[in-house]
Amino acid sequence: MESPLDSLVRALSRLPGLGRRSAERAALALVRDPDGSLDALQRALADARDKVCCCDICGGFTFRGANPCAICSDGLRDTSILCVVEEPGDILAFERAGVFRGCYHSLNGRVSASRGTGPVDIRLNALVARVRSDGVKEVILATATDMAGDATAAFVRELLAGIPGLRISRLAFGLPVDSGIGYSDPVTLRRALSGRIAETDPAS
Ligand code: ZN
Repeated sequence: MESPLDSLVRALSRLPGLGRRSAERAALALVRDPDGSLDALQRALADARDKVCCCDICGGFTFRGANPCAICSDGLRDTSILCVVEEPGDILAFERAGVFRGCYHSLNGRVSASRGTGPVDIRLNALVARVRSDGVKEVILATATDMAGDATAAFVRELLAGIPGLRISRLAFGLPVDSGIGYSDPVTLRRALSGRIAETDPAS
């Protein structure tokens, strides 16, 4: 039978960025201080499970009682520019960098043949509805630069093409895949955003 310590190490080592050795170190630190850090971790995990949710508008992370999220509720944000990302974590990367004052739309997925996810599995309809109803003037495609990121961007582009007055642009550099975890540094994000490439001129 697996010992509780081994179970803890195994659970921790499944987390991205934590190899077996790091997981072991973390597990030992936690069990050496059972009345402190382990309890705090347990409470934080339960809280995250119970309270963290996705914003009904942008799909980004928020928590129960704060939906729409702080960004969507912020009257100072520019609602005419939407940055379309694959994952809620991408929004965190932009916000941490402080390089964007528009609003976001997380697709919460990507079109990927290898993962068996298609356009119906991501928040595309919600995006189209937002663009049509909120007076959006520009959509910035901020998907990753791999094949699935390109395919996802293509679906978004096709769906939005022809909406009068809408400009579609793409980041000068794509976000790394799984950037919700990996994070792009602020300088790269700023450059990718300011050098964004117009893909379509506003349809007249
Ligand atoms: Zn939101």
